[in-house]
Amino acid sequence: MPDLAELLANNRRWAGQQTQRDPQFFERLCEIQMPDYLWIGCADSRVPANEIVGLAPGELFVHRNVANVVSPGDPNCEAVVQYAVEALSIKHIIVCGHYGCGGVRAVLGEPLQGAIDRWLEPVRYVRLAHAAELDSMPDVDARWRRLCELNVAAQVQSVSRIPYVREAWHRSKPLAIHGWIYDLRDGVLRDLRVGMSALAHAH
Ligand SMILES: [Zn+2]
Repeated sequence: MPDLAELLANNRRWAGQQTQRDPQFFERLCEIQMPDYLWIGCADSRVPANEIVGLAPGELFVHRNVANVVSPGDPNCEAVVQYAVEALSIKHIIVCGHYGCGGVRAVLGEPLQGAIDRWLEPVRYVRLAHAAELDSMPDVDARWRRLCELNVAAQVQSVSRIPYVREAWHRSKPLAIHGWIYDLRDGVLRDLRVGMSALAHAH
């Protein structure tokens, strides 16, 4: 594992390469950020948002936490969504889960202690709401994969209930929420087709 000095050295090399390739790169980024997408994903180190969708700095507004949870009333997530919708006029919010999510796995096992247990409460609700389907599955791996998907769908619904999103739809601003899942085994993202848009909301 690289030590801290190596991380700083890597950074110098990266900054140098960026400037070499594009001398105005940092200058431009300082002026303004105009990303088109908000990414709400898991904090898992194996799911680096920008990298897996091939976007450069300045192109993706990112919020990450354990198990990509959009918890009602969470000021951190709501502030990110407010800024994304009101200040950046972002048109696409992508909620991205991933198979093999440790946070999702945790609610299939024994209760945990402390902050992580409280944090995962919304995922536990998802598990309870779909208990019949999940309990009918042959093994814990199948349940785990399915719960990762159901969690994404539930968090898409949670985003749709955030007042700033409602307000944007009320004003007929183009804003869509998408639910995606990432597979650690092959690096491929899949659209779960659980998204919502202003149009769907209006009907
Ligand atoms: Zn995860």
